[in-house]
This record gives sequence, C-alpha cells and structure tokens, in this order.
Amino acid sequence: MSDYPQTQLYIDGVWHDGSKERLSIVNPASDEIIGTVANAGRDDLNEALAAASAGFNIWREISGFERSKVLRNAAQLLRDRVEKIARILTLEQGKPLAESRAETLGAADTIDWFAEEARRAYGRVVPARSPNVRQIVIKEPIGPVAAFSPWNFPLNQAVRKVSAGLAAGCSVILKGPEETPASCAELVRAFVDAGLPAGVLNLVYGVPADISNHLIAHPIIRKISFTGSTPVGKQLAALAGTHMKRVTMELGGHAPAIVFDDADVDLAVRILAGAKFRNAGQVCVAPTRFLIQEKVYAKFLDGFVRAAEAIKVGNGLDAGVTMGPLANGRRIGAMEALTVDAVSRGGRIATGGERIGNRGNFYKPTVLTDVPLEARVLNEEPFGPIAVVSPFSTYEAAIEEANRLPYGLAAYAYTTSAKTSTALGRDIQSGMVSVNHHGLALPELPFGGIKDSGYGSEGGTEAMDSYFNPKLVTESV
Ligand code: NAD
Repeated sequence: MSDYPQTQLYIDGVWHDGSKERLSIVNPASDEIIGTVANAGRDDLNEALAAASAGFNIWREISGFERSKVLRNAAQLLRDRVEKIARILTLEQGKPLAESRAETLGAADTIDWFAEEARRAYGRVVPARSPNVRQIVIKEPIGPVAAFSPWNFPLNQAVRKVSAGLAAGCSVILKGPEETPASCAELVRAFVDAGLPAGVLNLVYGVPADISNHLIAHPIIRKISFTGSTPVGKQLAALAGTHMKRVTMELGGHAPAIVFDDADVDLAVRILAGAKFRNAGQVCVAPTRFLIQEKVYAKFLDGFVRAAEAIKVGNGLDAGVTMGPLANGRRIGAMEALTVDAVSRGGRIATGGERIGNRGNFYKPTVLTDVPLEARVLNEEPFGPIAVVSPFSTYEAAIEEANRLPYGLAAYAYTTSAKTSTALGRDIQSGMVSVNHHGLALPELPFGGIKDSGYGSEGGTEAMDSYFNPKLVTESV
C-alpha cells in the first residue's frame, strides 16, 4: 500500500488537491483501498480552462522542432521510469506486470512517433489557375483540447490524445480515469519533467459527467477526444455538436474473428487467444465473435479452449500470472449476467463461465458455444474475458454475421487464400481489418472505428490532422 502514490490534479504547472472530497482507489486484485485521487470542483475546472487558454498561446508559438524535443524527453523519462510506473499500473488496474511494462514502453513509442510528426506538419501549395496567384494551405493547431481517457489502458488511451495534441501545438486538459489515476498522472509527470511549459497540459479527475458538461460547453475548448462506451460517446458528441466542437470518438466494439477452412489454425488459436484475454478482455478491439468455418471448427475450438485453460489467472504482480482481475466490480457483474443469459438461451460453457473466489475481481477465461444470435453476449460488448465460438459454412454467411452489429471497430480473419484476404478487406464493415496477424494499434497506423464505434482516428497522420485547422491563404501578387 505504501508505494502507491496519492494522485493530485495538475493545473497551470502546479500539482494540487481538488476542491471536492478525494475519491478512493481500490486494488482490483485484493478489494483493498490503496489510495485516493483528488476530485476537481467547478473552480478547479475554470482554473484549468484559463491555464489551457494561456498555455495554448505559449505553445503554439514554439516551433515544431522545439516541441519535438520536449516530447522526446518525455518518452525517454517514461522508459527510465518503466519499473515504477508499471507497478503502479498493475496495483490500480490489475493487469500483469509484463502488460504494464509493455503499455509504458508503448506509450514512450507513441510519444516519439508524434514528436517526429511535430517536425513534419507540412501544409500544401495548391497550383493556382492564374499565374499571379499563390494558394497556400497552412496547418494551424485547433486550440485547447478536452481529452477524456478510460481505465482499461490508463497510459495508452491518454498518450495518444496528449501526444497528438501537443505535437500539433495544442494545449490539453486531460480528464484521467478516476479508478486508475496514478499511472496516468505519471504520464503527465513525464511531460512536465521533460520541460513542458505551465498550462500546456493540465490533468483533472472528478465526476465525469460534471467535468465533460463543463469543459465541452466552454468556449475555450475547441476539440474533444473521448475513449469509452458508445452510450456515453453519443451523449458527449451531441453536446459537442451543440457547441460546434470538433470531436474524435473511440468507442466500443464487438470484433468478429473469422477462421476459414484453409487457415493456419494453430496460428489463429495462438494469436486470437492472446488478443482475447489480454488485459482480461477489457480492450475495445478484443475479438469476441469467433466465426469458424465448419471443417476446422472442432480443431479450433479444442485448441482455443486449451489456450484459455492454460492462462494463469491471479494477482498481476505475481510471477507467471498471464491474466489479472477485471478492473472493477462492474465488469464481474457484467460477465455473470452475460453468461447466465447465454446459457438460459441454450448456450454451452466450453470452459470457464464463473468467478474465481470472492476476493478481487477474478473471472475465468470463458469460451461459450451454441449461443443463439439473440443472446446479449452476441449483441453487447462484453469487455471482459468471454469468447463466443460459432461455426459458419460460406464466405457470405461469415460476412453477414461480421457486419450484423452496429459496431465497426476491429475485425480479424485467418486464411491462406490471397483472394479471400483481399475480399475481406473490401467486404468487412469496420475501421480496421487484420488478416493472419494482430496488426493494430501501432502509433503510425490509423486507429478508429465506424458506425457506433465512433469516428476519427487515434493514430497515424490522421490523428495529427484532427488537431489542426487547415487554413487557406490565397494571395494575388
Ligand atoms: P461507462 O460507460 O460509465 O464509462 C466508460 C468511460 O467513460 C469511463 O472512463 C468513464 O469515466 C467515462 N465516462 C462515463 N460517463 C462520462 C461522462 N458523462 N463524461 C465523460 N466521461 C464519462 O462504463 P464503465 O463501466 O466505466 O465501462 C463499461 C463500458 O465502457 C465497457 O463495456 C466498454 O464498452 C466501455 N469502455 C470502452 C473503452 C474503450 O477502450 N473504448 C474503455 C473503457 C470502457
């Protein structure tokens, strides 16, 4: 308990408490209260808004070349501090230490990539229709950003928004995750220690709806970026629309994973099991609907169940543990309800299907079969360690099921046919399609969904562009 830090707000270059009563932090592996986080009131938010406004005026004038140096310093500090940060992350979120280390080092890579982009935010010269006219498109930072990031990846959801915004020359007010605040605060500390001027990056925690209602509506804020559930995303997008604010929404998913008869089944089992149970399934791009062509169904199911049963569930700090607890008690309730519903409709539990013990939020890696399409688990994002495995006969049937839901974030497929692979890239309705490997979420790649999974991108040059206004300057000389 003693090595878990008390988390404060960071506003206008100062770490301090909020005006409201601090909130408790629970270790999801033990149910123990391990610390508290500061809770922002209206005055704190107004202070953050004023700081972000002043910070923007400073930061936008600093060249991309210099901004890049600060960002790269921050990346190096994260690497230097990886052991400390990873331990904090596991204590508050539950994931195994190896995943926490990977998340911290991945955050450093993300910062580095956007640092490079800061130096390459070129505009365009558009050839004119008249010889004496010059038309220039300049990329200007959009302004102060309100960024809302969740508890499943306390560093990596926040770092995408913060790095892209800062690289572009924006200031940021980050609302970090109240349930896992200290690792996110360490991310902010790295930027602060790297030399970011006061006011450019501000960190708040509190009552999410109070904060988002105040920040999104406020005229100082010019851009909103939110990662979280689809229902909340829709509310925030509606509010942003009322105030004509630019929005990036990274919301829920219900990824299909299609394995064809001609696939390398062992490869599919290994990679898909890793993708399903990483972070105990609390990943927006986690595969959930496993669609397996009839000839390889039995082989895939057998291998996947064995892979699920080989997972060692426990405290993320313990050696050898490959899946930690769910991050909060709400997820246990959700897993139990989805499993009971599926079984009541004829679904069968191939493995798992129940909580482990009554201390901490541990749930068995679960594989369900024979689940009818009306079951909740085949329509709602489980956001936990449940996989539903179903057979299919034809390519068309698999595509129809893959595209059935209003979600469209990630999709996976395994096939050795180049023709099938190309067709999948065309036919699957989702923001990301990964064939024969798990190829998502690198900083240089666009990351985002379509339909109810949101819009905009959290990676690649597409992410940077969402923090710029393109300004046309046309001059006749
Ligand atoms: P939730 O919908 O209450 O919260 C999801 C996230 O949104 C949290 O980080 C929360 O702090 C934030 N939030 C909630 N209301 C908000 C508001 N009015 N303004 C600003 N932020 C707000 O649910 P939850 O129990 O925390 O998570 C459950 C569901 O959320 C999951 O089933 C999953 O679908 C979704 N989720 C998605 C991601 C993702 O990576 N896309 C991450 C976390 C949660």
